[in-house]
Amino acid sequence: MINRKKIIAGNWKMNKTQAEARVVVGDIIREIGRFDSAEIVVCPPFTALSAVSELLGSVTNIRLGAQNMHEAASGAYTGEISAAMLRELYVRYVILGHSERRQYFHEDNATVNRKTKAALAAELRPIVCVGETLPERESDQWKTVLETQLVESLAGFGDKELADIILAYEPVWAIGTGKTASPAQAEEAHQWIRKVLATKFSAAASERIRIQYGGSVKAENAKELLSKPDIDGALVGGASLDARGFAGIIKNACLE
Ligand code: PEP
Repeated sequence: MINRKKIIAGNWKMNKTQAEARVVVGDIIREIGRFDSAEIVVCPPFTALSAVSELLGSVTNIRLGAQNMHEAASGAYTGEISAAMLRELYVRYVILGHSERRQYFHEDNATVNRKTKAALAAELRPIVCVGETLPERESDQWKTVLETQLVESLAGFGDKELADIILAYEPVWAIGTGKTASPAQAEEAHQWIRKVLATKFSAAASERIRIQYGGSVKAENAKELLSKPDIDGALVGGASLDARGFAGIIKNACLE
């Protein structure tokens, strides 16, 4: 069986000024800056990327991610940010297709696909989010929804591209609600995702890809979720805003 290194990413969303970001990243570095049994990523808002990048420098095991990007290289796209602009700040990861982007900014699978292509071309590692809504879960459509999101968001890619992508399964009903999918529900969804990928790509690629779970993960529930065989990490919103909370998730779930 492949040993997939756990990856924990903090999505700060539209929170923290530069000054606040410096404080929390300083605390995160003190708590887990030397921790290397998991890949750790922080995703501040665009305006704090530069400050956080400076603090992370090359001395820590904590990497920088962005929460979104535009698919074009440059041009008349007021308010948008390109992959090259992120690379210049030493950003290594980018969250794409987060349900809040899909819901409030009308991003669909085709948009996510174009952005993922552009991110890969710029050597950014995309964290591609998929997940069903509550009505889709309750009407037992979640498998079809996930399959469509995966097939369309990853259209045109092969095993080679998949190797550089991280997936995040984030049931929309569990994001920011305090309601977590049970470890069994999350594991079932992750297994389904691997099954879909094995059909569309190869069994080896499906085995290799890391799939994070996201949705109200906190220090108290992280260990149980991440001990499931197909859950390879967490995408954390609310609990990543506080250094001790974020470090607690990593310490509880990733220490051998
Ligand atoms: C997220 O923003 O991706 C997320 C999972 O948020 P929360 O942890 O707050 O549910």
